[in-house]
Amino acid sequence: MLYSENEREDFKTIINEKIEETRKEISDLADRVKPVEPDVAIGRLTRMDAIGSKSIYEAGLASARQNLTQLERALDRVDRKDYGFCSYCKKPIPIQRMLAMPETETCLGCAG
Ligand SMILES: [Zn+2]
Repeated sequence: MLYSENEREDFKTIINEKIEETRKEISDLADRVKPVEPDVAIGRLTRMDAIGSKSIYEAGLASARQNLTQLERALDRVDRKDYGFCSYCKKPIPIQRMLAMPETETCLGCAG
């Protein structure tokens, strides 16, 4: 194990907080991507705006969902012996990066 039990507990806490935040974000975005009503009260331009922001929200929703999957997977990985090692170069990922992004599977050098 690269990180101690206490450190892994910290990672789990951070991951759980992030999961909570991401779930809120997803439900908020899901509300916004509901079909734009062909409401007579909205003019044509406003409707175009609504459709334009809808695609932005849809992109945000897709990335939030992806993020949630990563976080949930990270929660399963924390207690595995390869957790904290970069999946590309196999070097340990510095704890500062792990604390900021406990769901990451790569070191900063390999992330780009
Ligand atoms: Zn690496």
